[in-house]
Amino acid sequence: MFDDMQNVYAVIDSVVAAVDIEISLLVIALVGIYCIVGILSLKEKGARESSEKELARLQGEIEKLTREVNDLRREVSARAKVEAVAAPVAEIPAAKEAPAEGVVAAKAIPVEGKAEAAPVVAEVVAPKVEAATIAKGMAKSRTSLLGKLKNLFTGRKSVDLASLDDLEEMLITSDVGARVSDALVNTVRGRASQNQEITETALRDLLKEGIRTELIPVPLEHRMYEPVGNPLVILVVGVNGVGKTTTVAKLATRYQEQGKKIVAIAADTFRAAAVQQLKEWGTRSNFFVYSGAENAKPAAVVFDGMVAAKEQGADVVLIDTAGRLHTKSNLMQELEGVRNSIRRHVPDAPHETILVVDGVSGQNALSQAREFNASTPLTGLVVTKLDGTPKGGIIVAISQELKIPVFYVGVGEKARDLLPFSVDEFLDGLLNEEGEGGSVTSPRVSPSGSAEAAPAL
Ligand code: GDP
Repeated sequence: MFDDMQNVYAVIDSVVAAVDIEISLLVIALVGIYCIVGILSLKEKGARESSEKELARLQGEIEKLTREVNDLRREVSARAKVEAVAAPVAEIPAAKEAPAEGVVAAKAIPVEGKAEAAPVVAEVVAPKVEAATIAKGMAKSRTSLLGKLKNLFTGRKSVDLASLDDLEEMLITSDVGARVSDALVNTVRGRASQNQEITETALRDLLKEGIRTELIPVPLEHRMYEPVGNPLVILVVGVNGVGKTTTVAKLATRYQEQGKKIVAIAADTFRAAAVQQLKEWGTRSNFFVYSGAENAKPAAVVFDGMVAAKEQGADVVLIDTAGRLHTKSNLMQELEGVRNSIRRHVPDAPHETILVVDGVSGQNALSQAREFNASTPLTGLVVTKLDGTPKGGIIVAISQELKIPVFYVGVGEKARDLLPFSVDEFLDGLLNEEGEGGSVTSPRVSPSGSAEAAPAL
Protein backbone atom coordinates (compact mmCIF):
# COMPACT_ATOMS: atom_id res chain seq x y z
CA MET A 1 0.00 0.00 0.00
CA PHE A 2 2.80 2.34 0.97
CA ASP A 3 4.65 1.61 -2.29
CA ASP A 4 1.57 2.34 -4.27
CA MET A 5 1.26 5.69 -2.61
CA GLN A 6 4.95 6.43 -3.39
CA ASN A 7 4.32 5.70 -7.02
CA VAL A 8 1.32 7.93 -7.16
CA TYR A 9 3.30 10.82 -5.66
CA ALA A 10 6.12 10.19 -8.15
CA VAL A 11 3.66 10.27 -11.03
CA ILE A 12 2.06 13.43 -9.65
CA ASP A 13 5.48 15.09 -9.25
CA SER A 14 6.49 14.24 -12.81
CA VAL A 15 3.15 15.52 -14.12
CA VAL A 16 3.45 18.76 -12.12
CA ALA A 17 7.04 19.21 -13.35
CA ALA A 18 5.93 18.66 -16.91
CA VAL A 19 2.99 21.07 -16.50
CA ASP A 20 5.27 23.78 -14.91
CA ILE A 21 7.57 23.59 -17.92
CA GLU A 22 4.58 23.99 -20.25
CA ILE A 23 3.22 26.92 -18.22
CA SER A 24 6.64 28.61 -18.15
CA LEU A 25 6.97 28.19 -21.86
CA LEU A 26 3.48 29.59 -22.30
CA VAL A 27 4.24 32.54 -20.03
CA ILE A 28 7.48 33.24 -21.89
CA ALA A 29 5.67 33.05 -25.21
CA LEU A 30 2.98 35.40 -23.99
CA VAL A 31 5.53 37.92 -22.65
CA GLY A 32 7.33 37.73 -25.99
CA ILE A 33 4.15 38.41 -27.91
CA TYR A 34 3.28 41.28 -25.57
CA CYS A 35 6.71 42.83 -26.13
CA ILE A 36 6.48 42.50 -29.86
CA VAL A 37 2.99 44.04 -29.90
CA GLY A 38 4.23 46.82 -27.58
CA ILE A 39 7.21 47.58 -29.81
CA LEU A 40 5.01 47.62 -32.89
CA SER A 41 2.44 49.93 -31.31
CA LEU A 42 5.15 52.29 -30.03
CA LYS A 43 6.55 52.42 -33.51
CA GLU A 44 3.09 53.18 -34.92
CA LYS A 45 2.47 55.84 -32.27
CA GLY A 46 5.72 57.56 -33.11
CA ALA A 47 4.90 57.53 -36.78
CA ARG A 48 1.40 58.86 -36.09
CA GLU A 49 2.68 61.69 -33.90
CA SER A 50 5.17 62.83 -36.48
CA SER A 51 2.48 62.67 -39.19
CA GLU A 52 0.17 64.76 -37.03
CA LYS A 53 2.92 67.34 -36.57
CA GLU A 54 3.51 67.43 -40.30
CA LEU A 55 -0.22 67.72 -40.91
CA ALA A 56 -0.49 70.66 -38.49
CA ARG A 57 2.42 72.38 -40.21
CA LEU A 58 0.83 71.92 -43.63
CA GLN A 59 -2.50 73.19 -42.36
CA GLY A 60 -0.73 76.34 -41.08
CA GLU A 61 0.79 76.88 -44.50
CA ILE A 62 -2.57 76.44 -46.21
CA GLU A 63 -4.23 78.96 -43.88
CA LYS A 64 -1.49 81.49 -44.53
CA LEU A 65 -1.81 81.09 -48.29
CA THR A 66 -5.61 81.35 -48.07
CA ARG A 67 -5.27 84.63 -46.18
CA GLU A 68 -2.92 86.00 -48.81
CA VAL A 69 -5.25 84.93 -51.63
CA ASN A 70 -8.21 86.59 -49.88
CA ASP A 71 -6.25 89.82 -49.42
CA LEU A 72 -5.36 89.81 -53.08
CA ARG A 73 -8.98 89.13 -54.05
CA ARG A 74 -10.18 92.06 -51.93
CA GLU A 75 -7.66 94.39 -53.49
CA VAL A 76 -8.54 93.29 -57.03
CA SER A 77 -12.28 93.74 -56.41
CA ALA A 78 -11.73 97.19 -54.82
CA ARG A 79 -9.71 98.29 -57.84
CA ALA A 80 -12.37 96.93 -60.19
CA LYS A 81 -15.06 98.96 -58.35
CA VAL A 82 -13.08 102.20 -58.60
CA GLU A 83 -12.52 101.60 -62.32
CA ALA A 84 -16.20 100.77 -62.79
CA VAL A 85 -17.10 104.17 -61.27
CA ALA A 86 -14.66 106.07 -63.47
CA ALA A 87 -15.90 104.46 -66.68
CA PRO A 88 -19.61 105.47 -66.64
CA VAL A 89 -18.73 109.01 -65.49
CA ALA A 90 -16.75 109.52 -68.66
CA GLU A 91 -19.71 108.35 -70.71
CA ILE A 92 -22.41 110.55 -69.16
CA PRO A 93 -23.41 113.17 -71.76
CA ALA A 94 -24.71 116.79 -71.36
CA ALA A 95 -25.14 117.45 -67.62
CA LYS A 96 -22.60 114.78 -67.07
CA GLU A 97 -19.47 116.63 -66.14
CA ALA A 98 -16.63 114.97 -64.30
CA PRO A 99 -17.13 114.65 -60.55
CA ALA A 100 -17.13 118.07 -58.96
CA GLU A 101 -13.73 119.02 -57.75
CA GLY A 102 -13.12 117.94 -54.20
CA VAL A 103 -16.22 115.79 -54.32
CA VAL A 104 -15.90 112.21 -53.23
CA ALA A 105 -16.39 109.99 -56.24
CA ALA A 106 -17.64 106.62 -55.20
CA LYS A 107 -19.84 103.75 -56.16
CA ALA A 108 -23.52 103.50 -55.32
CA ILE A 109 -25.43 100.79 -57.11
CA PRO A 110 -29.09 101.68 -56.87
CA VAL A 111 -31.49 98.82 -57.61
CA GLU A 112 -35.04 99.66 -58.55
CA GLY A 113 -37.48 99.32 -55.69
CA LYS A 114 -34.87 98.18 -53.26
CA ALA A 115 -32.97 99.63 -50.38
CA GLU A 116 -29.26 99.17 -50.86
CA ALA A 117 -26.22 99.37 -48.70
CA ALA A 118 -24.25 102.61 -48.82
CA PRO A 119 -21.41 102.82 -51.35
CA VAL A 120 -18.16 101.32 -50.26
CA VAL A 121 -15.39 102.65 -52.41
CA ALA A 122 -14.32 106.26 -52.40
CA GLU A 123 -11.65 108.29 -54.06
CA VAL A 124 -11.04 111.96 -53.48
CA VAL A 125 -10.73 114.11 -56.60
CA ALA A 126 -8.43 117.05 -56.04
CA PRO A 127 -9.86 120.57 -56.45
CA LYS A 128 -8.90 122.10 -59.79
CA VAL A 129 -11.14 124.91 -60.94
CA GLU A 130 -12.10 128.23 -59.45
CA ALA A 131 -15.22 128.11 -57.30
CA ALA A 132 -18.44 129.48 -58.72
CA THR A 133 -19.82 132.71 -57.27
CA ILE A 134 -23.12 134.46 -57.73
CA ALA A 135 -21.28 137.40 -59.30
CA LYS A 136 -19.60 135.18 -61.89
CA GLY A 137 -22.88 133.39 -62.56
CA MET A 138 -24.64 136.70 -63.10
CA ALA A 139 -22.24 138.02 -65.73
CA LYS A 140 -24.90 138.05 -68.47
CA SER A 141 -27.48 139.87 -66.35
CA ARG A 142 -24.87 142.37 -65.18
CA THR A 143 -23.55 143.07 -68.67
CA SER A 144 -27.08 143.57 -69.93
CA LEU A 145 -28.24 145.87 -67.10
CA LEU A 146 -25.04 147.91 -66.92
CA GLY A 147 -25.11 148.30 -70.70
CA LYS A 148 -28.63 149.72 -70.47
CA LEU A 149 -27.56 152.01 -67.63
CA LYS A 150 -24.66 153.32 -69.70
CA ASN A 151 -27.05 154.05 -72.55
CA LEU A 152 -29.24 155.97 -70.15
CA PHE A 153 -26.30 158.20 -69.30
CA THR A 154 -25.17 158.70 -72.87
CA GLY A 155 -25.01 162.45 -73.34
CA ARG A 156 -26.05 163.24 -69.75
CA LYS A 157 -24.42 163.18 -66.31
CA SER A 158 -27.60 162.89 -64.32
CA VAL A 159 -31.00 161.32 -64.92
CA ASP A 160 -33.74 163.91 -65.17
CA LEU A 161 -37.48 163.89 -65.55
CA ALA A 162 -37.10 163.53 -69.33
CA SER A 163 -35.22 160.26 -68.99
CA LEU A 164 -37.72 158.52 -66.66
CA ASP A 165 -39.43 156.64 -69.50
CA ASP A 166 -36.08 155.24 -70.58
CA LEU A 167 -35.36 154.24 -67.00
CA GLU A 168 -38.69 152.46 -66.71
CA GLU A 169 -38.11 150.60 -69.97
CA MET A 170 -34.67 149.58 -68.79
CA LEU A 171 -36.10 148.14 -65.58
CA ILE A 172 -39.02 146.36 -67.22
CA THR A 173 -36.75 144.72 -69.78
CA SER A 174 -34.51 143.57 -66.95
CA ASP A 175 -37.42 141.52 -65.60
CA VAL A 176 -37.46 143.01 -62.14
CA GLY A 177 -41.23 143.31 -62.46
CA ALA A 178 -43.70 146.16 -62.90
CA ARG A 179 -44.16 146.87 -59.20
CA VAL A 180 -40.48 147.16 -58.45
CA SER A 181 -39.96 149.22 -61.61
CA ASP A 182 -42.77 151.62 -60.59
CA ALA A 183 -41.37 152.00 -57.09
CA LEU A 184 -37.88 152.77 -58.40
CA VAL A 185 -39.06 155.20 -61.03
CA ASN A 186 -41.12 157.05 -58.40
CA THR A 187 -38.12 157.37 -56.10
CA VAL A 188 -36.00 158.73 -58.95
CA ARG A 189 -38.81 161.08 -60.03
CA GLY A 190 -39.02 162.48 -56.47
CA ARG A 191 -35.32 163.28 -56.43
CA ALA A 192 -35.19 164.57 -59.97
CA SER A 193 -38.08 166.93 -59.32
CA GLN A 194 -36.08 168.40 -56.43
CA ASN A 195 -33.25 168.90 -58.87
CA GLN A 196 -31.04 166.42 -57.02
CA GLU A 197 -28.23 165.12 -59.16
CA ILE A 198 -28.59 161.41 -59.85
CA THR A 199 -25.36 160.18 -61.34
CA GLU A 200 -24.82 156.67 -62.64
CA THR A 201 -23.32 155.58 -59.32
CA ALA A 202 -26.15 157.22 -57.37
CA LEU A 203 -28.73 155.50 -59.59
CA ARG A 204 -27.09 152.13 -59.05
CA ASP A 205 -27.22 152.70 -55.29
CA LEU A 206 -30.88 153.70 -55.51
CA LEU A 207 -31.64 150.55 -57.48
CA LYS A 208 -29.85 148.41 -54.93
CA GLU A 209 -31.72 150.00 -52.07
CA GLY A 210 -35.08 149.68 -53.80
CA ILE A 211 -34.57 146.06 -54.81
CA ARG A 212 -33.28 145.11 -51.36
CA THR A 213 -36.50 146.27 -49.72
CA GLU A 214 -38.50 144.12 -52.14
CA LEU A 215 -36.57 140.90 -51.60
CA ILE A 216 -37.37 138.48 -48.83
CA PRO A 217 -34.22 138.14 -46.78
CA VAL A 218 -33.04 134.59 -46.22
CA PRO A 219 -31.57 134.05 -42.77
CA LEU A 220 -28.16 132.40 -43.00
CA GLU A 221 -28.96 129.93 -40.26
CA HIS A 222 -31.94 128.55 -42.19
CA ARG A 223 -32.30 124.79 -42.02
CA MET A 224 -31.89 124.52 -45.77
CA TYR A 225 -28.26 125.44 -45.24
CA GLU A 226 -27.54 123.48 -42.08
CA PRO A 227 -30.10 120.71 -42.27
CA VAL A 228 -31.44 119.33 -39.02
CA GLY A 229 -34.29 116.89 -38.78
CA ASN A 230 -35.03 113.29 -38.29
CA PRO A 231 -34.87 113.29 -41.24
CA LEU A 232 -35.28 116.72 -42.88
CA VAL A 233 -37.60 116.11 -45.83
CA ILE A 234 -37.34 118.41 -48.84
CA LEU A 235 -39.89 118.12 -51.62
CA VAL A 236 -38.69 119.58 -54.92
CA VAL A 237 -41.31 120.64 -57.48
CA GLY A 238 -41.31 122.45 -60.82
CA VAL A 239 -42.12 121.90 -64.50
CA ASN A 240 -39.99 119.76 -66.82
CA GLY A 241 -36.65 121.08 -67.91
CA VAL A 242 -36.20 123.79 -65.28
CA GLY A 243 -33.37 121.90 -63.59
CA LYS A 244 -35.25 120.07 -60.82
CA THR A 245 -33.33 116.79 -60.97
CA THR A 246 -30.04 118.63 -61.28
CA THR A 247 -30.95 120.75 -58.27
CA VAL A 248 -31.86 117.66 -56.21
CA ALA A 249 -28.49 116.19 -57.14
CA LYS A 250 -26.62 119.41 -56.34
CA LEU A 251 -28.36 119.69 -52.96
CA ALA A 252 -27.64 116.03 -52.21
CA THR A 253 -23.97 116.51 -53.07
CA ARG A 254 -23.81 119.61 -50.93
CA TYR A 255 -25.37 117.93 -47.87
CA GLN A 256 -23.40 114.78 -48.44
CA GLU A 257 -20.22 116.85 -48.25
CA GLN A 258 -21.45 118.30 -44.96
CA GLY A 259 -21.35 114.73 -43.65
CA LYS A 260 -25.11 114.20 -43.85
CA LYS A 261 -26.60 110.91 -44.89
CA ILE A 262 -28.73 111.52 -47.96
CA VAL A 263 -31.53 109.57 -49.57
CA ALA A 264 -32.84 111.00 -52.83
CA ILE A 265 -36.16 109.62 -54.03
CA ALA A 266 -36.61 109.60 -57.81
CA ALA A 267 -40.36 110.16 -57.96
CA ASP A 268 -40.39 111.64 -61.47
CA THR A 269 -41.63 108.27 -62.63
CA PHE A 270 -42.99 109.52 -65.95
CA ARG A 271 -39.53 110.31 -67.19
CA ALA A 272 -37.19 107.32 -67.16
CA ALA A 273 -34.36 109.66 -68.09
CA ALA A 274 -34.89 111.69 -64.92
CA VAL A 275 -34.62 108.57 -62.77
CA GLN A 276 -31.52 107.44 -64.63
CA GLN A 277 -30.00 110.92 -64.38
CA LEU A 278 -30.47 110.98 -60.62
CA LYS A 279 -28.97 107.51 -60.29
CA GLU A 280 -25.92 108.65 -62.23
CA TRP A 281 -25.53 111.63 -59.94
CA GLY A 282 -25.89 109.30 -56.95
CA THR A 283 -23.12 107.12 -58.28
CA ARG A 284 -20.94 110.10 -59.02
CA SER A 285 -21.47 112.01 -55.79
CA ASN A 286 -21.92 109.07 -53.49
CA PHE A 287 -25.47 109.41 -52.28
CA PHE A 288 -28.24 106.85 -52.08
CA VAL A 289 -30.98 106.98 -54.72
CA TYR A 290 -34.29 105.21 -54.28
CA SER A 291 -36.29 104.58 -57.44
CA GLY A 292 -39.49 102.70 -58.15
CA ALA A 293 -40.72 100.99 -61.28
CA GLU A 294 -41.23 103.07 -64.41
CA ASN A 295 -44.69 104.73 -64.47
CA ALA A 296 -45.37 103.72 -60.86
CA LYS A 297 -47.52 106.18 -58.96
CA PRO A 298 -45.24 108.88 -57.50
CA ALA A 299 -47.05 108.66 -54.14
CA ALA A 300 -46.30 104.91 -53.97
CA VAL A 301 -42.65 105.43 -54.87
CA VAL A 302 -42.36 108.14 -52.23
CA PHE A 303 -43.99 105.89 -49.63
CA ASP A 304 -41.48 103.09 -50.29
CA GLY A 305 -38.65 105.59 -50.61
CA MET A 306 -39.42 106.94 -47.15
CA VAL A 307 -39.21 103.39 -45.78
CA ALA A 308 -35.78 103.07 -47.40
CA ALA A 309 -34.77 106.46 -46.03
CA LYS A 310 -35.60 105.36 -42.51
CA GLU A 311 -33.78 102.07 -42.97
CA GLN A 312 -30.76 104.00 -44.20
CA GLY A 313 -30.91 106.39 -41.24
CA ALA A 314 -31.09 109.41 -43.59
CA ASP A 315 -30.47 112.92 -42.24
CA VAL A 316 -31.94 114.51 -45.34
CA VAL A 317 -34.48 113.12 -47.79
CA LEU A 318 -34.71 114.90 -51.14
CA ILE A 319 -37.70 114.09 -53.33
CA ASP A 320 -37.64 114.76 -57.07
CA THR A 321 -41.17 114.98 -58.45
CA ALA A 322 -42.71 114.82 -61.91
CA GLY A 323 -43.06 118.04 -63.88
CA ARG A 324 -45.41 116.69 -66.52
CA LEU A 325 -48.72 117.97 -65.25
CA HIS A 326 -51.45 119.07 -67.59
CA THR A 327 -53.94 120.71 -65.32
CA LYS A 328 -53.86 122.41 -61.99
CA SER A 329 -56.13 119.79 -60.40
CA ASN A 330 -53.77 117.02 -61.57
CA LEU A 331 -50.94 118.86 -59.99
CA MET A 332 -52.75 119.37 -56.71
CA GLN A 333 -53.90 115.76 -56.54
CA GLU A 334 -50.52 114.33 -57.28
CA LEU A 335 -48.63 116.58 -54.91
CA GLU A 336 -51.18 115.94 -52.16
CA GLY A 337 -50.72 112.17 -52.65
CA VAL A 338 -46.96 112.59 -52.36
CA ARG A 339 -47.31 114.75 -49.26
CA ASN A 340 -49.58 112.14 -47.63
CA SER A 341 -47.05 109.40 -48.33
CA ILE A 342 -44.35 111.48 -46.68
CA ARG A 343 -46.51 112.24 -43.66
CA ARG A 344 -47.25 108.57 -43.06
CA HIS A 345 -43.59 108.28 -42.09
CA VAL A 346 -42.69 111.75 -40.83
CA PRO A 347 -45.84 113.51 -39.64
CA ASP A 348 -44.52 117.09 -39.73
CA ALA A 349 -42.93 116.71 -43.18
CA PRO A 350 -42.27 117.83 -45.85
CA HIS A 351 -40.34 120.47 -43.98
CA GLU A 352 -39.54 122.34 -47.18
CA THR A 353 -41.37 122.43 -50.49
CA ILE A 354 -39.01 124.04 -52.95
CA LEU A 355 -40.09 125.29 -56.34
CA VAL A 356 -37.39 125.23 -58.99
CA VAL A 357 -37.76 127.83 -61.73
CA ASP A 358 -35.58 128.47 -64.73
CA GLY A 359 -34.12 132.00 -64.76
CA VAL A 360 -33.80 131.87 -68.53
CA SER A 361 -37.57 131.71 -68.94
CA GLY A 362 -38.03 135.16 -67.36
CA GLN A 363 -41.72 135.99 -67.00
CA ASN A 364 -42.66 132.32 -67.53
CA ALA A 365 -40.84 131.51 -64.34
CA LEU A 366 -43.07 134.01 -62.58
CA SER A 367 -46.29 132.48 -63.92
CA GLN A 368 -45.09 128.96 -63.02
CA ALA A 369 -44.33 130.15 -59.52
CA ARG A 370 -47.85 131.62 -59.23
CA GLU A 371 -49.44 128.36 -60.39
CA PHE A 372 -47.44 126.08 -58.12
CA ASN A 373 -47.92 128.37 -55.18
CA ALA A 374 -51.67 128.10 -55.67
CA SER A 375 -51.45 124.28 -55.81
CA THR A 376 -49.21 123.47 -52.92
CA PRO A 377 -47.74 125.50 -50.08
CA LEU A 378 -44.23 126.51 -51.15
CA THR A 379 -41.59 127.38 -48.58
CA GLY A 380 -38.80 128.50 -50.90
CA LEU A 381 -37.41 128.87 -54.39
CA VAL A 382 -34.40 127.80 -56.34
CA VAL A 383 -33.74 129.87 -59.46
CA THR A 384 -31.58 127.94 -61.92
CA LYS A 385 -29.53 128.86 -65.00
CA LEU A 386 -28.65 132.37 -63.84
CA ASP A 387 -25.43 131.82 -65.76
CA GLY A 388 -27.35 131.52 -69.01
CA THR A 389 -29.66 134.50 -68.79
CA PRO A 390 -29.62 138.29 -68.89
CA LYS A 391 -32.92 138.12 -66.98
CA GLY A 392 -31.55 137.60 -63.45
CA GLY A 393 -33.86 140.39 -62.34
CA ILE A 394 -36.69 137.85 -62.39
CA ILE A 395 -35.64 136.83 -58.89
CA VAL A 396 -36.81 140.21 -57.67
CA ALA A 397 -40.18 139.91 -59.38
CA ILE A 398 -40.93 136.39 -58.09
CA SER A 399 -39.72 137.06 -54.59
CA GLN A 400 -41.60 140.34 -54.38
CA GLU A 401 -44.88 138.97 -55.68
CA LEU A 402 -45.01 135.64 -53.89
CA LYS A 403 -43.19 136.65 -50.72
CA ILE A 404 -41.22 133.42 -50.82
CA PRO A 405 -37.50 133.36 -50.05
CA VAL A 406 -34.98 132.31 -52.69
CA PHE A 407 -32.79 129.72 -50.99
CA TYR A 408 -30.39 128.84 -53.78
CA VAL A 409 -29.46 129.93 -57.26
CA GLY A 410 -28.05 127.71 -59.99
CA VAL A 411 -25.11 129.17 -61.89
CA GLY A 412 -24.00 126.17 -63.95
CA GLU A 413 -24.41 122.45 -64.51
CA LYS A 414 -21.81 121.16 -62.07
CA ALA A 415 -22.44 119.92 -58.55
CA ARG A 416 -20.91 123.03 -57.03
CA ASP A 417 -22.86 125.44 -59.17
CA LEU A 418 -25.68 125.75 -56.68
CA LEU A 419 -25.10 128.68 -54.36
CA PRO A 420 -26.92 129.87 -51.26
CA PHE A 421 -28.74 133.03 -52.25
CA SER A 422 -27.49 136.24 -50.68
CA VAL A 423 -29.23 139.54 -51.36
CA ASP A 424 -25.93 141.46 -51.14
CA GLU A 425 -24.09 139.16 -53.52
CA PHE A 426 -27.04 139.20 -55.88
CA LEU A 427 -27.19 143.00 -55.95
CA ASP A 428 -23.45 143.39 -56.33
CA GLY A 429 -23.50 140.71 -59.03
CA LEU A 430 -26.25 142.56 -60.86
CA LEU A 431 -25.04 146.15 -60.49
CA ASN A 432 -21.33 146.33 -59.61
CA GLU A 433 -18.78 146.97 -62.31
CA GLU A 434 -16.08 144.26 -62.59
CA GLY A 435 -13.48 144.77 -59.88
CA GLU A 436 -15.72 147.10 -57.90
CA GLY A 437 -15.95 146.43 -54.13
CA GLY A 438 -18.79 144.77 -52.32
CA SER A 439 -19.37 141.08 -52.13
CA VAL A 440 -18.66 140.43 -55.80
CA THR A 441 -15.22 139.41 -54.71
CA SER A 442 -15.50 139.43 -50.92
CA PRO A 443 -15.81 136.16 -49.05
CA ARG A 444 -19.11 134.94 -47.79
CA VAL A 445 -19.46 134.31 -44.06
CA SER A 446 -20.80 130.85 -43.46
CA PRO A 447 -23.62 130.20 -40.98
CA SER A 448 -21.08 128.81 -38.56
CA GLY A 449 -19.24 132.12 -38.65
CA SER A 450 -16.19 131.09 -40.65
CA ALA A 451 -15.29 133.01 -43.77
CA GLU A 452 -15.42 131.07 -46.99
CA ALA A 453 -13.36 132.20 -49.95
CA ALA A 454 -16.15 130.76 -52.03
CA PRO A 455 -19.46 129.09 -51.33
CA ALA A 456 -19.25 125.58 -49.99
CA LEU A 457 -19.77 123.88 -53.31
P1 GDP B 1 -35.81 118.79 -64.82
O1 GDP B 1 -36.57 118.28 -66.00
O2 GDP B 1 -36.49 119.94 -64.19
O3 GDP B 1 -35.47 117.72 -63.85
O4 GDP B 1 -34.45 119.41 -65.42
P2 GDP B 1 -32.98 118.81 -65.41
O5 GDP B 1 -32.45 118.73 -64.04
O6 GDP B 1 -33.00 117.56 -66.21
O7 GDP B 1 -32.17 119.96 -66.16
C1 GDP B 1 -32.43 120.35 -67.48
C2 GDP B 1 -31.14 120.91 -68.08
O8 GDP B 1 -30.80 122.12 -67.41
C3 GDP B 1 -29.94 120.00 -67.90
O9 GDP B 1 -29.21 120.01 -69.09
C4 GDP B 1 -29.16 120.62 -66.79
O10 GDP B 1 -27.78 120.36 -66.87
C5 GDP B 1 -29.44 122.09 -67.02
N1 GDP B 1 -29.27 122.91 -65.81
C6 GDP B 1 -29.81 122.73 -64.59
N2 GDP B 1 -29.45 123.71 -63.74
C7 GDP B 1 -28.63 124.55 -64.45
C8 GDP B 1 -27.93 125.77 -64.14
O11 GDP B 1 -27.98 126.31 -63.03
N3 GDP B 1 -27.21 126.34 -65.15
C9 GDP B 1 -27.15 125.78 -66.40
N4 GDP B 1 -26.42 126.40 -67.33
N5 GDP B 1 -27.79 124.65 -66.71
C10 GDP B 1 -28.53 124.03 -65.77
